[in-house]
Order: sequence, then structure tokens, then C-alpha cells
Amino acid sequence: MQRRPRRSFNQSYAQKYGATRAIRADRMYRCITPYPNKVPPPGTVQLAISGRPYRAVFTTDNCYIEKLFTREATGVRLLDFLRNRRFIVVRSQKFNYPTYQKYYIVRLDKPLGYLFDTIGRRYMYRHITSCDCKDYVRPCKHILAVRYALRDIF
Ligand SMILES: [Zn+2]
Repeated sequence: MQRRPRRSFNQSYAQKYGATRAIRADRMYRCITPYPNKVPPPGTVQLAISGRPYRAVFTTDNCYIEKLFTREATGVRLLDFLRNRRFIVVRSQKFNYPTYQKYYIVRLDKPLGYLFDTIGRRYMYRHITSCDCKDYVRPCKHILAVRYALRDIF
């Protein structure tokens, strides 16, 4: 017997967030908020990661992937307080839904400052090692989104 297609009045996950992980990651990178989720507010958040306090800065242009770089007359600079960090914070697109994990941690095998100074921004993505989300596929959308953010050239 042929199964009838499932109908729903709610838009599907693929419609809402994007058909593939790459599309979903690109939307996160470009701060496209899936309707009717709320646009995440800019601000600095304090997080305890592995028992230690950290901050992550989110802006209107960095609303899902924390702000990593600033542009100066001399070029792009990594934010100073990130230099010794081996992870990047990604905010969930469901951050305003209380039942979901709000922040995901994308880890790298070396400190961000070391990578920025030695291999440069374009190749830092090669040092991403993991994400703490439950997606069974790697790279997950958080890792992809961080790749896009690292490789973006102002
Ligand atoms: Zn992930």
C-alpha cells in the first residue's frame, strides 16, 4: 500500500531552516532568521564553558556566530579576548525557545590567536575539530557556519 504524503499546516523544518546543512549554515552566517523565530538581540553574553567564564559578542551582523574580527586601517584583527580560546560560540536559531540548547561550542585544536598569526584567517577553518551539538552528521551546520565566518573576507 502506498503511503500518503504527510500533510502539515506547519511549514517543514527544511522550509523553515533550509533544505541542506550548507543552506542552513549560510543563513546563520548571513543572519537570516527563520520565521517566526525571533531575531536574536545583539549583546555580550557570559558563558561558563568547562567551568570557566567566557564572553561572546553578538551584533546585528554577527547574530548567530559570535563576532571574531574587527576591521582596522591596518587590516582585519582578531578580537583580543579570543586569542587564547580554542572554541567559537554559535547561537542557536531557536535561542528564544526555552527547551532548546542556546549555544553550541565549535572547537579548534589550537588557540585562535596562534592560528590567526601563523596560518592566517583563510585557513583557520582547517583546525576545527568538533561541535557539541547532537547532529549525527559532520560537518554539522554550526561547523559549516563557523567555516563561512572564518573564511569571509571583509
Ligand atoms: Zn553542531
